[in-house]
Amino acid sequence: AQHSLAGGISSSSRLTSTGPHPYPLYMASGSGARITDVDGNEYIDYLISYGSAVLGHASPLLTEALTQVLHSGTMFGTCNVPEVELAELICQMVPCAELVRFANSGSEAVQGAVRAARGYTGRSAILKFEGHYHGWSDTLAISNRPSAAQAGPYATPHPVPHSPGIPTGVIDDVVVCPWNDPTALRDVLDGHPNLAAVICEPIVANNACTMPDPDYLDLLREECTARDLVLIFDEVCTGFRTGPGGAQNLFGVLPDIAVFSKALGGGLPIAAFAGRRAVMEPLARGEVKHGGTYNASPLCATAALVTLRQLNDTTVTKRIDEAGQRLMETVRRAAHDNRVPCAVQGVGAMFQVVFSSDGAPTRGYRDLLSADSGRYDAFRHELLKRGVHSNAYAMACWFVPAVVSEDDLSATCQAVEGAFAA
Ligand code: PMP
Repeated sequence: AQHSLAGGISSSSRLTSTGPHPYPLYMASGSGARITDVDGNEYIDYLISYGSAVLGHASPLLTEALTQVLHSGTMFGTCNVPEVELAELICQMVPCAELVRFANSGSEAVQGAVRAARGYTGRSAILKFEGHYHGWSDTLAISNRPSAAQAGPYATPHPVPHSPGIPTGVIDDVVVCPWNDPTALRDVLDGHPNLAAVICEPIVANNACTMPDPDYLDLLREECTARDLVLIFDEVCTGFRTGPGGAQNLFGVLPDIAVFSKALGGGLPIAAFAGRRAVMEPLARGEVKHGGTYNASPLCATAALVTLRQLNDTTVTKRIDEAGQRLMETVRRAAHDNRVPCAVQGVGAMFQVVFSSDGAPTRGYRDLLSADSGRYDAFRHELLKRGVHSNAYAMACWFVPAVVSEDDLSATCQAVEGAFAA
């Protein structure tokens, strides 16, 4: 494969970011589950724009519907029909959803959900978990990845560590707790009387798809109910992809608010938070303020409507799951055959390969710190050479597109076997 770095674009660009290790990829086009870079190399895509392009690239369904919107006006600043239909559909699909509010990105929708929780409870502090990611905002994202040392002993109140350049004090109302640890959870809850909400990723996509221990989500629900806290599931990654009702349906645990983006828009920027009527009503009445010029524009609401109508069909989500399970099994077998210890964790729609020394799955952030990220990089690089594009970050995950074909899958399985052998 030729990787010219787009004739030096990366070194002369005025962009403030380049792509991740091992080299920035510049994509020129995509179709279905495949993407082609500017040098003409084709890849089967399991990044799908961090999970967004769930119907595949250049989906004919989306292209047709969006072309119509482009011809009839994309923004009016008034209510529009697709957003009303979309809100109805979300309430049909998502168990906790009684009222819906739209936003443009996962980060913004999380902020909206946090604001709703603060408005509803009249309290300000938020409990989040180590290794869970909730977007690029100064209140929650910078607490994204505290080292074990920064996080400190869980029983002692600790302000969230922040990134350089962010003034202290902005973020003091967020406390961090280890995941899958009932004792730590109760200690942190007992130590913080001013909590408004507990927020988590039910499957921790941003911690290599760490799964919740059996009954852990039930415990979160019980503790939040007993203490009158708003439980927020950040379903930006799990939403709709793991089945029409998302992770809350998969695990049978009802949050008060759930946050959605990524798969929701099928590749266009739209997000939503949806929840229990009582918690969302202050927003509906305008007592809790939330807005945004672009929220649920006709263009993005139409993209979401088209996408959710597909994902509301369980044969579609079942196909995604089965394709992912087959890939997971292939990785497990190739790892076993080549005597490489690793855990393949998550669910079919989203999973990750973790090169832990004993092959045990991660239960929290601290387990991931000791995994071999160099080996993950090597694995990913070998896959790229064999025409498979996966997430560059060891702490993130693979996302399976709904349109992945039998040819795509068998080519991917071959690439996985080749990568392990290499
Ligand atoms: N929550 C989760 C669980 C996410 O994975 C992400 C994005 N990776 C976000 C929130 C933030 O979404 P966005 O990048 O659209 O702001």
